[in-house]
Amino acid sequence: MKKKIIAANFKMNKTNRDIEEYFNTFVNNMNEFKGKGLFENIGLNSEAVFATPCTSLCESYKIIKPYGDFIKLSAQDIYFEKNGAYTGEISIDMIKDCGCEYAIVGHSERRRIFNETDETIAKKMSAVYSSEGVTPILCVGENKEVREKDMQYDFVKKQLKTDLEPLKAKSGKVYSLIIAYEPVWAIGTDLPIRPEDGDKMHRFIYDYVRSNYEVDELRIIYGGSVKESNIKELMDEPYINGVLVGGASLDPSVFLNIVRLSNA
Ligand code: PEP
Repeated sequence: MKKKIIAANFKMNKTNRDIEEYFNTFVNNMNEFKGKGLFENIGLNSEAVFATPCTSLCESYKIIKPYGDFIKLSAQDIYFEKNGAYTGEISIDMIKDCGCEYAIVGHSERRRIFNETDETIAKKMSAVYSSEGVTPILCVGENKEVREKDMQYDFVKKQLKTDLEPLKAKSGKVYSLIIAYEPVWAIGTDLPIRPEDGDKMHRFIYDYVRSNYEVDELRIIYGGSVKESNIKELMDEPYINGVLVGGASLDPSVFLNIVRLSNA
């Protein structure tokens, strides 16, 4: 069975001390839910993935390790080179060393604020698949102008075509790929997509990837103003296999509730 991915992106928030407090609360509350029988099968059906800042990955890993079947770590970004004179960047081996099993690639903030192009993203995807043990969470999604022109399908297809080019060159199947569909107009705006529109795009992405690439385990997750109030209706849609949560993941009780409701 494909496990659902309920991912938290902390972005540039929280020091190591904040992270320690966060996970202590998250784990305590989780154990309390378990004691009341409210959490029994969640770990079997889903993974809670945390993209903490890179300064906290190793610290986070120490705390979450005992819960490793259910709580996983992700980097917020990686660089495509293995090592060398790339000031400020982190490599895949470095994040693996801190216990990461996932890496976000091509987040819209990297594209928009740091001018990351689809060509760079393709190099990152290629680097992830040249190294074993890390699953990419590739972010795609259109901005408001594109959606207003009803060009979102062509736009996302174009992103995928370039970003996933390395999969064509790879011999044999790719084991695991997560695509996060994150319409830029829905990120941090309190304007989430209508679940049925999200599902339509997820289905489009699913069909496109399945007919062009060989992937064993494909999951398509949604990101953009996910909250306790809308998680259930989003997760009820057949092609939405999880979520990527920014703002609402910063409070451990809220995020735990999102995880719980995503399985309700
Ligand atoms: C994000 O930036 O990946 C995101 C989904 O943010 P938010 O949940 O705050 O919209």
